[in-house]
Amino acid sequence: MKLCGKPLRNRANSKYDPLDLHRCFREDGHSGKCEEFPYLRHLATCSPKVAKKIMRDSTKTTGAAWKSEDAGPNRISRWVMLLSDQELNALGIKMDMLKPIVVSKLRDKAATYDQCMNVAMNLTYSTYGMAHAPAPTPEIKSYLESFFGPIVGGSTVCLVCKAPLDYDDFALARRGKAEIETAHSSPRSHTAKNVGFAHRLCNIAQGDRSVKEFYAWIKTILQRTGEL
Ligand SMILES: [Zn+2]
Ligand SMILES: [Zn+2]
Repeated sequence: MKLCGKPLRNRANSKYDPLDLHRCFREDGHSGKCEEFPYLRHLATCSPKVAKKIMRDSTKTTGAAWKSEDAGPNRISRWVMLLSDQELNALGIKMDMLKPIVVSKLRDKAATYDQCMNVAMNLTYSTYGMAHAPAPTPEIKSYLESFFGPIVGGSTVCLVCKAPLDYDDFALARRGKAEIETAHSSPRSHTAKNVGFAHRLCNIAQGDRSVKEFYAWIKTILQRTGEL
């Protein structure tokens, strides 16, 4: 599908996101307003939290480490993390105020705008493939299927343990943490192929290893303990 691609301006949060990369992702030649996340329109109505999660996880760095008034905002766009320390400093994002470990974690989350948008689209597709997910509108269904192939209910599995994911688990939370999280097969690559959903506990267990490293680690434990 050919996309409209017109630049979208006047975004909120522009102070920390000055690159003006936002574009329209509706089909080329569409009528009406340009939109950055047209495929999230339906989820935004029936499950705004899930839609917001997809937008946030695909485009933003994670927060916690940023909770310093001196250092900068809580979350910033991943593509801003591709800028140099000097360029970030000029934006009021002071990398030298952060511990080196925090800086390297943030730098690991860097991704281009296009990578982030592909992740958002793919996460939306994966959401509709979960058991008990609502059906997408016909327009969104054909949009997503033109990129990723048929949407099959119940086909989306946890990135880590490969068990099916249930859409209802989005609503479940323990101590404010959702039971489904966005996860990376290799923690340092934010691309559609490498990003998916995982059970929260599976994501925690994987930690900062790649999924392959995680399996190898589990295997050594099982062998050592005679379980395998
Ligand atoms: Zn447009
Ligand atoms: Zn799992």
